[in-house]
Amino acid sequence: MPSLLITGAAVATVDAAGTEHAVGHVLVRDGAIAAVGAGEAPPGTVADRVVDARGHLVTPGFVNTHHHLYQWATRGFAVDEGLFAWLTTLYPVWALLRAADVEAAARAGLARLALTGCTTTTDHHYLHPREGGDQLAATIEAAASVGLRFSPTRGSMDLGSSAGGLPPDSVVEDVEAVLAATADAVARHHDPSPSSTVRIGAAPCSPFSVSPRLLRETAAQAAELGIRRHTHLAETADEEEFCARTFGARPVEVLEDLGWLGPDVWLAHCVHLSDADIATLARTGSSVAHCPSSNARLGAGAARARDLLDAGVPLGLGVDGAASSEQGSLADELRQMVYTARLRGGPEAMSARDALRAATAGGAACVGRSAEIGSIEVGKRADLALWDLRGLGHADLDDPVVALVIGPTPPLALTTVEGRVVVEDGQLRTTSEERAVADLVAARRRVLARR
Ligand SMILES: [Zn+2]
Repeated sequence: MPSLLITGAAVATVDAAGTEHAVGHVLVRDGAIAAVGAGEAPPGTVADRVVDARGHLVTPGFVNTHHHLYQWATRGFAVDEGLFAWLTTLYPVWALLRAADVEAAARAGLARLALTGCTTTTDHHYLHPREGGDQLAATIEAAASVGLRFSPTRGSMDLGSSAGGLPPDSVVEDVEAVLAATADAVARHHDPSPSSTVRIGAAPCSPFSVSPRLLRETAAQAAELGIRRHTHLAETADEEEFCARTFGARPVEVLEDLGWLGPDVWLAHCVHLSDADIATLARTGSSVAHCPSSNARLGAGAARARDLLDAGVPLGLGVDGAASSEQGSLADELRQMVYTARLRGGPEAMSARDALRAATAGGAACVGRSAEIGSIEVGKRADLALWDLRGLGHADLDDPVVALVIGPTPPLALTTVEGRVVVEDGQLRTTSEERAVADLVAARRRVLARR
């Protein structure tokens, strides 16, 4: 692995103290950060490749904490519907997906993430049609080809419409099948090592599509396997009503009763929370994947991100599936996070630096990798994004972090994962963007032709 020196750039390390350098350097060796500091690199610093990065900003690579990569093949459906109507439109379409379609959709979604500064992403794949093949493996294949660090989850649903759930019976599984598939995925793909590029999680879909038994048993299994847990929670007012009707409790209370909160759990959305709910999330050490664009697109509401941060809840950012947030760019979520919080709480409710922290260190906390990624510190894995701030959108903005978050998404000069170049000069270096587009279009045609 060639060593790399980035020198002359502004550096936002996002370490615990928020250390920044107006001019600094970062040295990468053997896939890890070997040095970071103020000023140009000290004389005598040698590297196989030296990048003169004056006028640029280097940040930790972004960590996307919530996605459904398969949805990239089904963008643009039910554009003006809320969550439940949107889901009932799309479930029958998703039931037609096969592993090859999912791989093409995932590659497109992952390419988009890479091209917007992401170096790690999760995926929540909860729909496994019987004739669909191994769709989780298809997403892992796609992530390897794009070169992102990946924390896919073996998702699940077992509450079909005949049992009072929202999804049609054709796309749900039974509990035993879910547990067996999760154990198999962990045995085949999970790597717990610090430099790991694949870590599996367990992810029942949501309170309105899974049974209490599935939640209880996946919690026990995850503890046994030593893997993290993920699910959707408190996304809409409809979900709150469903939980009140079905369980006589609020969504957060339902999950706590079923042993589904804790430091090994991260929860997507958490839009509709009471003060007591926020205190419960903080007390249990649960993390939240905040998805402000998806919440806006579905009209779900504006999450209480400021209150969650103030309560000490680890908060990451997520693009959510591309069928409910068609842009799929984590860089855009930083601005959306600031704006959403300010619409709720005024100009001081969220800063550009709060958003950068959520997209990096906060995301690393969600996926349980704070010791390895999410900040630029010696010994951490070399997952970096180098933003070019010399152009029309940014050249006159003095504060580079403000330029990145509040300005337009800057051109990406470089990203590295484990020190390996993934994007350079705005182009993928690991795989072909043109091929990804062609494969995506073909996959979408195949899926729609099966209707
Ligand atoms: Zn989602």
